[in-house]
Amino acid sequence: MSSKKETKIAELCGGNSADARPRHPEWLRRPVPKVGQGRRVQEVLRKGGLHTVCDEAACPNRGECFCRGTATFLILGDHCTRNCRFCNVAHGTAPKPDPDEPARLAEAVRTMGLSHVVVTSVTRDDLADGGAGQFARTIRLLKQQLPGVTVEVLVPDFGGALNLVDIVMEARPDVFNHNIETVPRVYPLVRPQADFDRSLKVLERAAELVRENVVTKSGMMVGLGETDEEVVEAMRKLRGVQCRVLTIGQYLQPARSAFPVRRYVTPDQFSAFEREGKALGFDTVVAGPFVRSSYRAAEVFDDSLEHGSDREHA
Ligand code: SF4
Repeated sequence: MSSKKETKIAELCGGNSADARPRHPEWLRRPVPKVGQGRRVQEVLRKGGLHTVCDEAACPNRGECFCRGTATFLILGDHCTRNCRFCNVAHGTAPKPDPDEPARLAEAVRTMGLSHVVVTSVTRDDLADGGAGQFARTIRLLKQQLPGVTVEVLVPDFGGALNLVDIVMEARPDVFNHNIETVPRVYPLVRPQADFDRSLKVLERAAELVRENVVTKSGMMVGLGETDEEVVEAMRKLRGVQCRVLTIGQYLQPARSAFPVRRYVTPDQFSAFEREGKALGFDTVVAGPFVRSSYRAAEVFDDSLEHGSDREHA
């Protein structure tokens, strides 16, 4: 193996990086995970011609997740039609939806032995259906070919076209996830082509169509200039549209050209967000420096079902 490739795998599995950005506070340093299945996951992805948001977004958890044998699949290409300032995914013209992609993804899930699969996409404002059809085809094929597997989709806002939310929900995912990402005041700074209320409507629509054992989920980053009070207010609004699961994690600048980190939230404050979220009635709130919306998604899903059923029987 070339030394360049070895270096990449070492970085993915938590080894030293040549990156010289400012040092993080001590709670953002963590031990190097074992290499484990990291190489195997990369090989499966390469063979399937599949993308992951883990790689494209330069997620800081790649080492841990790949080495645990998991990843979050990115469908509909690796170029986004929007230009959010916190995101590392490349921008530009994306290819036509690939009709074979759902089958290749299902094969990768089978090979990786996943029991819970997370599928997301770049935002495809160029497509008439925003990519909703490809999500629906992927969910249906996974359910048909791998009946025991639960499917979580993390969708874009579809430009607020609620009929496209219906298309995804009709395919019956187990988790419908749409990230609000940040508080309304910060949207124009980091997400100028999106709208907080539009995202709430997407979640509200999905919640209206939810059947038994299906959960709606959202995620936020902190460190983009929001206040703690604004975070709690956003949580309140999410509960107002019946969102049941929430993830909150520290924003980390993925590239020099990306929006700078405005603050590092302490582990104590993340715990306070979790307590606040439980008090507001979420089934599950996972908050922590390295939490991302698909981080340990299988465990989060199980936890939400358990706590949702506690609530129903209370
Ligand atoms: S947290 Fe999600 S996006 Fe990040 S590496 Fe893990 S599975 Fe991939």
